[in-house]
Amino acid sequence: MNPARPSEHGRDILPHRPVKGERPASRGLLSIVIPCHNEEEVIESTHQRLVAALPSTGMDFEILYIDDGSRDGTLSRLEAIAASDPRATVIELSRNFGQQSAMSAGLARARGDAVVIIDADLQDPPEVIPEMVECWRSGADVAYGRRRSREGETWFKLVTASCFHRFFASLVPYPIPVDTGDFKLLDRAVVDAVCGLPEKRRYLRSLVAWTGFRQEPVWYDRHARSAGETKYSTRKLLRLALDAVMLSSDTPLRAAWWGAGFLTTLAVGGALLACLMPAGDGTLVATITALIALVGAIQTSAVALVGEYVIRTYREVQGRPSWVVKKTVGGHAGSETGHEDRPGARAA
Ligand code: UDP
Ligand code: MG
Repeated sequence: MNPARPSEHGRDILPHRPVKGERPASRGLLSIVIPCHNEEEVIESTHQRLVAALPSTGMDFEILYIDDGSRDGTLSRLEAIAASDPRATVIELSRNFGQQSAMSAGLARARGDAVVIIDADLQDPPEVIPEMVECWRSGADVAYGRRRSREGETWFKLVTASCFHRFFASLVPYPIPVDTGDFKLLDRAVVDAVCGLPEKRRYLRSLVAWTGFRQEPVWYDRHARSAGETKYSTRKLLRLALDAVMLSSDTPLRAAWWGAGFLTTLAVGGALLACLMPAGDGTLVATITALIALVGAIQTSAVALVGEYVIRTYREVQGRPSWVVKKTVGGHAGSETGHEDRPGARAA
């Protein structure tokens, strides 16, 4: 049975468990999604650490490795892992599409009651996953890893990341946790909500926050990369940051209104000064300033107005639903169960 009932303006995401608190105490399926790009040096240790840590969750588990166009030996090592461990699946993308796409591909294939996204490089310790599962069992829909400390990063990266997280949170019109990355556990209802979104260009950290639900932190210490190098150059990070802001916030376009407001104030101030001052050179300067500011204010307002149309057009094209239903009590509640034909499955 299809748990999602798309409507004209929104999408009802009905949790497949009708009553909260009915999360499987021992069994149930946990999916682990791991984007991998050129991680041959670390991927076998990652698998070993995962299979050692996951049994203590008390859940059955599947591990989905998404090979995102690796050019080293990552794919062959992943295939060897999948050949020897039936819980591992390898999804090979046809080229390097980027981490955001790789994670989305994994989410679309994951079948679990809960899904954990984790990097391949062991910066996020797999041993934290049981804590996330506990947090989920106690009612959280998203248990996100919040970094208490970050080893092995340059001070430049620490400062810029911290500033960006706070700046980004101030731009986005819904609560988004700071000092977090993609390491998190998502309940099936959240995975369905995210996978059901039609937009193709994605920044998952803010999409997960956008869905709402109950989001709780699980504090952990982030380690240094156990092997290999970061795949993010400063240029790539800047592009990701720009994407994050453009996809999630209207504020940069609306900033033109601030410019228009400033220029209007300047124009009015200059005009008042020109009227009140005794005639002379000062009056001329005030009049010219007022006129220039007035022309600037008109032009900037026009740009801001065009921006308003662009915002509305872009949001329509992006096609996000206007709401996500978390739970329905009575009526249909309890009738939607099962994992087949989810929106995520269709998006795959
Ligand atoms: N990754 C990916 N595709 C890319 C770049 C990175 O799938 O184009 C994966 C990478 O293998 C790792 C995760 O995304 O599992 C995070 O990448 P990385 O560790 O380089 O980022 P950092 O931790 O330095 O921010
Ligand atoms: Mg990393």
